[in-house]
Amino acid sequence: MIIVLKNGTTQEDINKISGWLSRYDVEVSPIVGTQTTILGVVGDTSSVDTNSVYLSEYVDKIIKVQEPYKKANRKFHPENTIVNIGGVEIGGKKLVVMAGPCSVEGEEQIIDIARHIKAAGASIIRGGAWKPRSSPYSFQGLKAEGLELLNLAKAETGLPIVTEITNPMHVEKFIGKVDCFQVGARNMQNFELLLELGKARIPVLLKRGFSNTLEEFLMSAEYILSGGNENVILCERGIRTNETYTRNTLDISAVPALKKLSHLPVIIDPSHACGMSWMVESLSMAAIAAGADGLMIEVHNDPQNALSDGAQSLTYDMFDGTMKKLKALAKVVEREL
Ligand code: PEP
Ligand code: MN
Repeated sequence: MIIVLKNGTTQEDINKISGWLSRYDVEVSPIVGTQTTILGVVGDTSSVDTNSVYLSEYVDKIIKVQEPYKKANRKFHPENTIVNIGGVEIGGKKLVVMAGPCSVEGEEQIIDIARHIKAAGASIIRGGAWKPRSSPYSFQGLKAEGLELLNLAKAETGLPIVTEITNPMHVEKFIGKVDCFQVGARNMQNFELLLELGKARIPVLLKRGFSNTLEEFLMSAEYILSGGNENVILCERGIRTNETYTRNTLDISAVPALKKLSHLPVIIDPSHACGMSWMVESLSMAAIAAGADGLMIEVHNDPQNALSDGAQSLTYDMFDGTMKKLKALAKVVEREL
């Protein structure tokens, strides 16, 4: 960290700031110029409270040269992390497709979809039981019953389950019923939830909030990792921009950026990114070409009558066609599907 001091700072001020910084485990080296004095601060600067009023009295600006996340940082963990979701590895050579409806709606629906996506080459079933909807009047999910139905689909097909958890108090009731927790975009900074999931030993699929930076995203991953749960998968699902044509804007650059910054597996959810089923195939292809480790795709047996997100849900035929193209593309990028 480099602290640039205000003009006219005296040696006494430098001593005061150095003294203040000594509460942290860092070393301070002042460089006194004719115009400007800077302090080079080395060591673990992640806990230094740069917003401190005391510092701001003397400080012109602070330049951070170290990322605030440690456990998520590739610098401290150069090898790719491979996360195992109920026997399915994600982050290695094999691409992983998670697919299923936005919401679990009934036994027949979820079992039929599970069978279909498995036959097409998907390896994990997704489906929301607790649905955090923008409107309180929209379908809120089947809740505990939804979890049971997902488990029936798993018993039928063997596909591991990923489903969203919205409440830190629900962790206990999810354990034993899910293979991977999903943290939705709206809960990316629900720190109480992240802390609880850090204590669990089940993988967590963390979605990027639609208004969050990559650094904030990685800091949320850090919450889970620092609790001792090392099984985190990052999911880009579109962010808010000035563009209104699509539901969100898929930040494809997040894939190479996150891969460079972090060792964690990265997947893309093209469905929530664009909001339109016809565009999902293109974005899926772009994601794999950009280096994503997998995809989360919404698929429905009857999109027109879906209780949530029907417009972006693929029909079985569309999903089959997309999987075929993805299998061909996987070879080109030296992956397997
Ligand atoms: C979902 O996966 O159904 C969902 C609600 O996603 P997001 O949190 O990305 O909006
Ligand atoms: Mn959805």
